[in-house]
Amino acid sequence: MAARIDALMMDYPLTLTHFFERSRRLFPKKTIATRVPGRPLFRYTYADFAERTMRLAAALRALGVKKGDRVATFAWNSHRHLELYWAVPLIGGVLHTLNIRLSRDDLAYIVNHAGDSVVFADASLWAALEGLRDRIPTVRRFVIMPDTPDAAVPPGLAEYEDLLAGTAPITSWPELAETDASGMCYTSGTTGHPKGVVYTHRAVFLHCLAQAMTDSFGLSERDVIFHMVPMFHANSWCVPYTGVMVGATHVLAGPNPQPRDICEIVQSEKVTVCGGVPTVWIAVKELVEHDGYDISSLRCIPIGGSAAPRSLIELYDKKFGASMTHAWGMTEMTPLGTLSRLKSYMLDWPEDRQYAVRARCGYPSVGVDVRIVDDDGRELPWDGQSMGELQVRGPWVVGAYYDNPESAARFTADGWFRTGDVATIDAEGYVQITDRTKDLIKSGGEWISSVDVENLIMAHPKVLEAAVIAVPHPKWVERPLACVVPRPGERIERAEIIEFLRPKLARWALPDEVVLIDAVPKTSVGKFDKKVLRERFKDWTPREA
Ligand code: AMP
Repeated sequence: MAARIDALMMDYPLTLTHFFERSRRLFPKKTIATRVPGRPLFRYTYADFAERTMRLAAALRALGVKKGDRVATFAWNSHRHLELYWAVPLIGGVLHTLNIRLSRDDLAYIVNHAGDSVVFADASLWAALEGLRDRIPTVRRFVIMPDTPDAAVPPGLAEYEDLLAGTAPITSWPELAETDASGMCYTSGTTGHPKGVVYTHRAVFLHCLAQAMTDSFGLSERDVIFHMVPMFHANSWCVPYTGVMVGATHVLAGPNPQPRDICEIVQSEKVTVCGGVPTVWIAVKELVEHDGYDISSLRCIPIGGSAAPRSLIELYDKKFGASMTHAWGMTEMTPLGTLSRLKSYMLDWPEDRQYAVRARCGYPSVGVDVRIVDDDGRELPWDGQSMGELQVRGPWVVGAYYDNPESAARFTADGWFRTGDVATIDAEGYVQITDRTKDLIKSGGEWISSVDVENLIMAHPKVLEAAVIAVPHPKWVERPLACVVPRPGERIERAEIIEFLRPKLARWALPDEVVLIDAVPKTSVGKFDKKVLRERFKDWTPREA
């Protein structure tokens, strides 16, 4: 009989247990800190973190959490939230991070749909949850976390620190399969009900390895990571896992962080990595320019969630010595898809061309296949011009939404996930998101990318933020309307914007009108909420109808 040649390596499961145990052994002296309003940072070591996570694991067991049970969090970023990030999946539970900014109806829907059995809530957020208690019957227990110095625990509820103090650490971890669920996150959901994405140990494990690579976030033990991306947004971009895996130093943003907190912590803790959506970095920019914070320790600012304006990337480089890395991803992708790093030979290119590359969303991470297809599902060339729906597949891409009959429509017959984003891919493999399908503006026979136009407007020195939406037009079907927020203390005229854009855009892509607004409405995770603007301006009458 022929000797067996396949499967001669160990069948070692790719689970978070390996990362946790390894970091516990290797990095016990490294530190994890949380911002506490009005107090110095709360700081402890990985050894403390590991011990408490093991107590929490035992406490979860005592609360009756079994394999596959959903344990929800309703919390700001903190060391306690980080402990939950690890303890829940390590005992086979599924960590469900609830978005604290959702409406009560959405929250009730999500908790019920997920069937959460225990909810860990920050004391400062309890008021938002309390009124929902009657509507979420699956929840057996609430545990309150003292996130602020004056936090009070409502009568009759368990307190996190008491729970930990009263429980001995777990002595051994259960054996898990790599396909076991580890976490769960609902998409921000612009239409219909939010949809549940369930991560597996294997998906997170592989995503962490890819994310830590030099050409990705390049995370290392030497990094100081500031966790500002909410731990309820898209798996917190997976950094709470990857950061612990590499043994980095952590600072967590604490309750309700403001742009000034970000500036102060980056400066004082010499933060090297801090991700965030563009709106946050726009706000931080104003403060750094005005008050002169030193944020030059930031060697990698992953920026994504929505398109990063090129002008912002350039300004952070040149004025602050802080390097932004544009990335694209989705809750459905754990979330990393593409990341814009220059290839070595591009370093010799003229600066203008380099920034043009860096402003794109980047090339796919190892582990992610991408393609663009036309309306008939035919694959389009990577020529930087052809525009089509971006489709992806890979070991950390959603295979089906949780318990959702409409799920199938988001997948192609040959097994790719339809992202709903419209993109081009150039010959170098750099993806550029043109728009969400619903945000593209169809004017006459031409498509206009709202993202392109708003990014050009945001390069104007008097502009803080700009969002471009389609408004109905009797002749052209739709036309772009620019909603512009001037920088504090600036006055800006419509004509200034149009003249600024004229040399940069085709005539038909110039916005018909510029309206000045106080602020661009934001979604629960800080992206421009164009739905609200479309509603506000739905009866807009064009100038030359
Ligand atoms: P979420 O699941 O909340 O992270 O949202 C994912 C969506 O955000 C994507 O499908 C894109 O529409 C958008 N998005 C994420 N990153 C970018 C980016 N760098 N540029 C443009 N859109 C982005």
